Amino acid sequence: MKRIALITVILTILLAGAASAAKFYLPYTYPGSIGFFQLEEKPKNARVVVVSKGKMFIFPVVSKKAYFVIPYGSGRWVRISLYEGNTEKERKTVKVAGKKYRFSKIWVKEHKYTPELIKRIEKEERLLKKILSQVTPKKFRESFMRKPLKRLIVSTPFGAKRIINGKKRSIHWGTDFVAPKGTPVYAALSGKVVLARELFFTGKTVVIDHGLGIHTLYAHLSKIEVKEGDTVKAGKVIGRVGSTGRSTGPHLHFGVYVSSVRADPMLVLKSHL
Ligand SMILES: [Zn+2]
Repeated sequence: MKRIALITVILTILLAGAASAAKFYLPYTYPGSIGFFQLEEKPKNARVVVVSKGKMFIFPVVSKKAYFVIPYGSGRWVRISLYEGNTEKERKTVKVAGKKYRFSKIWVKEHKYTPELIKRIEKEERLLKKILSQVTPKKFRESFMRKPLKRLIVSTPFGAKRIINGKKRSIHWGTDFVAPKGTPVYAALSGKVVLARELFFTGKTVVIDHGLGIHTLYAHLSKIEVKEGDTVKAGKVIGRVGSTGRSTGPHLHFGVYVSSVRADPMLVLKSHL
């Protein structure tokens, strides 16, 4: 049984390679890696579907560039398919590179979770989810991301297991960079500011929609220097480093999302887009 499964996997890879028309680009295979199919024509009703461990992630396609992410928590293999309507046009089976994720312990002031506060948190989560799943067709112009700070000193990496006040809480869904309060924060790519306001957990927060499902998020700012609806160029100052929201000191929390699936910012910074 196992042998048949292995042969199937090998055949799938060979056949997928032979029938390939769209270019496939995936520079890293760690969880959180970003990649894309480069299509010859603008597809109709297309999507990339990433399947791992029986879980399915859908990335709507609105242009010739069809981005996807290898989701955090993927098994050893992921299947990445490009569908047009119900037809599977491309299929790649990728072996996921292993990565160890460390624990990150932080101590913060405990809040009393009153019904009002829980309501606020849930409302903000819904808002973020809605914003991050938006797929707009206008694409950023750059082919690489710019650094969101002049110097990137990582304090907590993507995927770290967060332990807050001694309790296991969640996964760290971005990369934290330490920097003094007031340090300028730059837009990583051109795009449109779709959120610029204070949220409970992430404090003063900016989200930029770069098009084709890609969003970046900048959290814990001391100052926001853009407004919702603004169009920004890559490298524009959008705010200043701070420690607002649930934070233990001045730092930038930088998040990257593709159709609301979390990507590893350090891998995206090194990837051709
Ligand atoms: Zn963070």
